[in-house]
Amino acid sequence: MKEPVGYLHSVESFGAVDGPGVRFVVFLQGCPLRCLFCHNADTWEIGEGKPVTPSELFGQIDSYRNFIQNGGVTFSGGEPLLQPEFLCAVMALCKEAGLHTAVDTSGAVPLSRCREAVEAADLLLLDIKDIDTGDCRSLTGMGNENALELLRACEDMQKPVWIRHVLVPGYTLQEEKLHRLGKELSRYTCIERVELSPFHKMGEYKWEFVDQPYQLGEVPLPSKEEIEKAREILKHYELSL
Ligand code: SF4
Repeated sequence: MKEPVGYLHSVESFGAVDGPGVRFVVFLQGCPLRCLFCHNADTWEIGEGKPVTPSELFGQIDSYRNFIQNGGVTFSGGEPLLQPEFLCAVMALCKEAGLHTAVDTSGAVPLSRCREAVEAADLLLLDIKDIDTGDCRSLTGMGNENALELLRACEDMQKPVWIRHVLVPGYTLQEEKLHRLGKELSRYTCIERVELSPFHKMGEYKWEFVDQPYQLGEVPLPSKEEIEKAREILKHYELSL
């Protein structure tokens, strides 16, 4: 049978921040969102990137098997769930090899298009961009409905989820919003932990490649105190951070 072709942006052989343990991280090309704080703007364009088959990509992953046996493989992007058939095929090969798989997603792709890939992953790293759907649209170009639907589906299938949330001063870093987020997340038993990432500007230079102005240049970085306060608010909802 003909293998589905995937579009690859890049890989990282020893990732330590995208899931448990040491991981091979695959960045797939293409993203439906346009987050104002994006530090991977060069992954946006759909259909660009390097075409690869699942077995070609798995060959690369497998050459690191000894190093990632106790960690696994994380599929990130861009948005990996934009290429669900390809993702399912590579994850099946990882599973056969006994490798743990995680999908790092914004949840923007409708569940009807990616359910099989979600079911196949061992762990979801789900980025809730903004708990207010209107503000989420301003921040990313899309509301948060699909992401919350994905979270509900994970709860139904009891799929382990790590929530990710970027703290952007003036946008998501607001006490009222963090309370809303904490309250919403506290309803889900599938959430194993919440990771708060302070806003940074390290990917600002990549916006030149997509020929668009970076709009958050004047936004300050969150202070240590603000980050700690945000953590305290979420802990109040008995979430593990
Ligand atoms: S989902 Fe990720 S890759 Fe896509 S625009 Fe947002 S931050 Fe960038």
